[in-house]
Amino acid sequence: MTPTQNYYGNLAKTTIKNLEKRHFDCYYCQTSKEATELASKMVPAGSTVSFGGSMTLAESGMGSALRKREDITLLDRGKAGSPEEVKEIYHKSLHADYYFMSSNAITADGELVNIDGTGNRAAALIYGPEHVIILAGMNKVAPTLEEAISRVRNVASPINALRLGRNTPCAATGLCSDCLSPDCICSHTVITRKSAPEKRIKVILVGESLGY
Ligand code: SF4
Repeated sequence: MTPTQNYYGNLAKTTIKNLEKRHFDCYYCQTSKEATELASKMVPAGSTVSFGGSMTLAESGMGSALRKREDITLLDRGKAGSPEEVKEIYHKSLHADYYFMSSNAITADGELVNIDGTGNRAAALIYGPEHVIILAGMNKVAPTLEEAISRVRNVASPINALRLGRNTPCAATGLCSDCLSPDCICSHTVITRKSAPEKRIKVILVGESLGY
C-alpha cells in the first residue's frame, strides 16, 4: 500500500465515523471499480435512476455502468434533444428511486458541501429521490467547513467554469471573486449536516483522486 492509499484509508475512517453520527449510510472502497460494483448492487432491477452532472461519475466508470444496465429506467439528460427535454428530466429525476451524484466537498466532521448553479442536483440531494448515492474520491475531503467551501469556490468551480466554457472571473484568474456574473455557476451553497430520513443518503468514499 502506498503512503497516499494509507493516508486516504486513515482519513476515511475518521470521516466515516463522523458521517455515521450524522445518519449517513457509509462505505469505503479503495478503488473506483469496487465502488462502482458496490453502488450497482445497491440498485435493484426495475428501479428508476437519475444522476447529477459529475466528473467523478464519469471518471469512476459509474456513469457508463448505469448506461449499460438494461434492467433499470435511466433518466439521462445526455439523451435529451432540447432544453425542454432537459427540464423535463430534471423534474422527473426528483421522483427517481435512486439518484447518483458526487459531493463538491465533504468535511472530515461529516458534512456534505455542494455548490450548484441551476440547483437541480442540490434539489435532488435535499428532497425527492428515495435514495441518494454519493461517490466521492478522498481528494474531496477537507478538514473544516470553511476549507471545504473554499475548496469548492477556489478549485472545483474555476475548473468547472473552464470545462463548461463559462465566462466567470474564476475561469480567468483561478480564484473566486464572489461574482454575480450571468455565467456564475454558484447560485446555491448547500450544507447537508445530516441525512433525513436516516440512511437515505449513502456515501461511498473512494481511496482515489476523482473529479475536482
Ligand atoms: S462565485 Fe463566480 S467567481 Fe466565484 S467560484 Fe462561483 S462562478 Fe467563480
